[in-house]
Amino acid sequence: MERTKAVLNTVKVYGTMESSEAYIIRDFLKRSVAAFDWIPVPDINALQHLITAPIPEYANLPVVELPGGKLLFDPSIESIAFSLGWISKPKHTEYDVSIFGGGPAGLSAAVYAASEGLRTVLVEREAIGGQAGTSSLIENYLGFPNGLSGAELAERARQQAVKFGVEILLMRRGVNAKFIANKLHVDLVDGSKIIARANISATGVEYSRLDLPDENRYLDKGVYYGAGSSEVLLCTDEHVFIVGGGNSAGQAALNFCRYAKKVTLVVRGSDLASTLSFYLLNRIQNNKNIEVLFNSNITALSGTGTLNEINITDHLNHTITNYSTRFVFVCIGGKPNTTWAKDTAIVRDEAGYLVTGTDLYEPSFKSKWSNSFTPAFLETSVPGCFAAGDVRHNSIKRVASAVGEGAMAVTFVHRYLTKNY
Ligand SMILES: Cc1cc2nc3c(=O)[nH]c(=O)nc-3n(C[C@H](O)[C@H](O)[C@H](O)COP(=O)(O)OP(=O)(O)OC[C@H]3O[C@@H](n4cnc5c(N)ncnc54)[C@H](O)[C@@H]3O)c2cc1C
Repeated sequence: MERTKAVLNTVKVYGTMESSEAYIIRDFLKRSVAAFDWIPVPDINALQHLITAPIPEYANLPVVELPGGKLLFDPSIESIAFSLGWISKPKHTEYDVSIFGGGPAGLSAAVYAASEGLRTVLVEREAIGGQAGTSSLIENYLGFPNGLSGAELAERARQQAVKFGVEILLMRRGVNAKFIANKLHVDLVDGSKIIARANISATGVEYSRLDLPDENRYLDKGVYYGAGSSEVLLCTDEHVFIVGGGNSAGQAALNFCRYAKKVTLVVRGSDLASTLSFYLLNRIQNNKNIEVLFNSNITALSGTGTLNEINITDHLNHTITNYSTRFVFVCIGGKPNTTWAKDTAIVRDEAGYLVTGTDLYEPSFKSKWSNSFTPAFLETSVPGCFAAGDVRHNSIKRVASAVGEGAMAVTFVHRYLTKNY
């Protein structure tokens, strides 16, 4: 799993400016901390002037040129990751602990578990880093006074995990979980199976949608989920809209305003103070390039092929205003990634978050599980199955708390294994 510097330095991505497929590739490479060159081209014919290898007759953009010159035409991110040597099969049939999710909580759990001698596998469905991996600058994580990008934090943690012997399976998703003879059996999306004596679920949350009728048409063609770190330079001199009033939206606004002509933050509520950290609020208020629209929602998207215009409704003044823009970034929180748990005995709350520890004794959850053991703080209603980070009911939704919970979960795993094996 060690990525060589040569691999990191020489990937080239060619595509049209408005291609959603090219955006998905750029976003994936950026989050994977793979240095790459983005070379916009008007069409596939223009590419022949830039590369020496012949282009097959029916080839399509985007094209990824790998180190060494191999070309991938209209590739999936799985095939790019595979070609770069980032995908492997499970090495063992059974592990001490399986960790699902490679965000801050999962990475932290992996580092602590492997460094304490547990045979550890970490399964991540996309790129390492989770939500944090999309953050342009995390400034409130202890020990980094100048801040660091989420992708850099994730890559450092990945290297640390690999150093301690964690097996990382990228581009794999747990789709179905069963408990057989006290062990967790998880089917992965590619048909392989992982068996583990204990498990930590750190599958985090997924961005919520705007819920607009044309949303899918413009997805990654003007409407982007997340903070869009890979797109900042492409928004030079553009009017960029960011939806959301939380820290991720605030950070994104400050990141984009360095290059964009103007950044408009579209906020559903009537203030930012209740949702945004004080240091971000201060900077946003003092930045002439950032405008905040309160009590507002995007209510319509339009454009031919790609996004060109949006309508914003002000619910207080009952006005609808039309704006020209090619870039909307949606940072409005999300839903937990826990559909894999739906057929298990793991108790979830109404929104789908995993309930752990003493929360399981709340009246609304108490009748939903056996009550036959005393769950540890991060233990779910199934013994040996722990949850850490944003996926947990009542979690704090910060990098530091996710990292802390990942480390703590490992202590509970040790206690569970000592008692049961
Ligand atoms: C843009 C942005 C900026 C932020 N900035 C800050 C900040 O400055 N400071 C701060 O403290 N917090 C910040 N946050 C919040 C912080 O990033 C989250 O609280 C933190 O990432 C939660 O970590 P996690 O590991 O619990 O979950 P996540 O980061 O959500 O990671 C979950 C991982 O699990 C994977 N996954 C999901 N389902 C499966 C499955 N079935 N199988 C395998 N893998 C799966 C996902 O792909 C993902 O990689 C920010 C969030 C965003 C979006």
